[in-house]
Amino acid sequence: MPPELRPNAYRDTWSGDVLSDRVGEQVRVAGWVHRRRDHGGLVFVDLRDRTGIVQVVFNPETEPAAHSRSHELRSEWVISAAGEVVRRSAETVNPDMPTGEVEIRATAVDVLAAAETPAFPVDEDTPVDEALRLRHRYLDLRREPMQHALDMRHRVTQAIRDHLHAGGFLDIETPILTRSTPEGARDFVVPARMQRGSFYALPQSPQLFKQLLMIAGFERYYQIARCFRDEALRADRQLEFTQLDMELAFVGEEDVMAVTEGVLAAAFAAGGVDLPTPFPRLSYDDAIARFGTDRPDARFGMEIHDLGDSLRGTEFKVFRGVLEGGGVVRGINAGAHDLSRAELDRLIEFAQGQGAGGLVWAYVEEGAGWRSPGAKCLSEAEQGAVGSALAAAPGDLLLLVADDAGVAAQTLGALRLELGARFDLIPEDDWRPLWVTDFPLVEWNDDEGRWDALHHPFTSPTEESLADLEQHPGSARARAYDVVLNGVELGGGSIRVNRPEVQYRVLGVLGIERAAADEKFGFLIEALKHGAPPHGGIAFGLDRMAALLARRESIRDVIAFPKTATGQDPLTGAPAPIDDAQLKELGIRVDTQGTPPAR
Ligand code: ASP
Repeated sequence: MPPELRPNAYRDTWSGDVLSDRVGEQVRVAGWVHRRRDHGGLVFVDLRDRTGIVQVVFNPETEPAAHSRSHELRSEWVISAAGEVVRRSAETVNPDMPTGEVEIRATAVDVLAAAETPAFPVDEDTPVDEALRLRHRYLDLRREPMQHALDMRHRVTQAIRDHLHAGGFLDIETPILTRSTPEGARDFVVPARMQRGSFYALPQSPQLFKQLLMIAGFERYYQIARCFRDEALRADRQLEFTQLDMELAFVGEEDVMAVTEGVLAAAFAAGGVDLPTPFPRLSYDDAIARFGTDRPDARFGMEIHDLGDSLRGTEFKVFRGVLEGGGVVRGINAGAHDLSRAELDRLIEFAQGQGAGGLVWAYVEEGAGWRSPGAKCLSEAEQGAVGSALAAAPGDLLLLVADDAGVAAQTLGALRLELGARFDLIPEDDWRPLWVTDFPLVEWNDDEGRWDALHHPFTSPTEESLADLEQHPGSARARAYDVVLNGVELGGGSIRVNRPEVQYRVLGVLGIERAAADEKFGFLIEALKHGAPPHGGIAFGLDRMAALLARRESIRDVIAFPKTATGQDPLTGAPAPIDDAQLKELGIRVDTQGTPPAR
């Protein structure tokens, strides 16, 4: 339904509203010249506005003045045209256009603005270089798929707002100029002119503020919050992105999960997708064991199986060595797919690219036995045991990795996705959300030689983990949960620490001693000393959600003005140098050596 229209001098009707029920009416429409065709006599203009396209016809015999004006019209000129809605003759009806049964017989046309020839056609969905699209984003956004994508994003956001408002959540804004919020990325900083030498940090998330809001008694908070993380733009990331951020007081995991399922179901329903609730759950350990990742794509099988029991005591030196050295042998059944020797070699290279020492492939033969480079090293009984662990049938391709557990998981997880896509096992339009729970609290950072929080330092350890937190940080579990959809981490959150002593201990495990904790997060710890209710929350990447629902590959397609992979905006030229006077005022001297200034 087109939005309600207040008639004015430019238009009294939306283009998309000129349907056959309007035949005989006088209308005025306004918009852009989508296409103009001159049939040596009649001139046809497809006029586009936000709601759609309608055909306007200029006739030299009946309306010579309007017709002669129509000659100068070019693509993307902005016009207002008036005339009568008439039915098209049967042979000129265009069934591909909602307004295709009618046209407007123009009696008048006003040029509101001329336009230069666009850098790329706006009237076609032809592939255009992304740099060019971003440089002329206002043209790119005029294209139908982009209009659709942003419309979808709006609908999703609005559904979230409606749902949370109805659930008693308050939308509260938190600062953009603030102090560092440790989500594990680098901060963007802003020099403070009034406190020379001091800097604000842009929030990586509203994490600490939403906790303060719980301590402040709001109990249910949400925000569609902009977050900033200065990290290398691997894959499909943006330096600034939008989160649906939520926090609740007097809750445990079950409460947050229930609220989350409700709001996600509402958001996806707005995008025409029915998310089945409740979402299935998987522990972190199971996710890694069965899918090789904590972001499992549950749309297809080909699960990973441990083969340690089947191969215990094997004479095969490679497997034996790995098992005795504390490693694992795991495998997947890739199904009955005939791959050439060259393709199998490429799979081995793929596995090595993931860090594995190698990959053993095996085809299960009719009767007993394998066709495999490893066949002669494994006894018939071992081949049989591996085969039954992998539920193998004759013709199936089995892929085995013997390595350290992390590498085996990583490699088989990646192989599973690669082969799932290659063998066309991933159904389109299948939506499989799931929870991953029981995360470790911390992970070892080898480069820095310390423990890092797996989520963030304000995540509560489980009560059982508290007893020997300092002695065995690696086995501590977090009260954290992630939502994963089709292999994409949509969001995650946790129940937070709400006792100051526990917060000190968790920070201590991360190598942040009391004094440093007070210096960095003193305001939070002090607030925790003033009556902090049990609380927890979650946050979701809204850009990713909108991209999934708008069926776009890239989140850049659901952001009106995104940045490139190198963090630039080709439209405005940001980032850009600032002038010396401004630098001086800030007390900043710039050393551009090594990094060329942005264009
Ligand atoms: N602040 C977290 C994040 O941005 C989410 C949460 O714990 O609620 O990932």
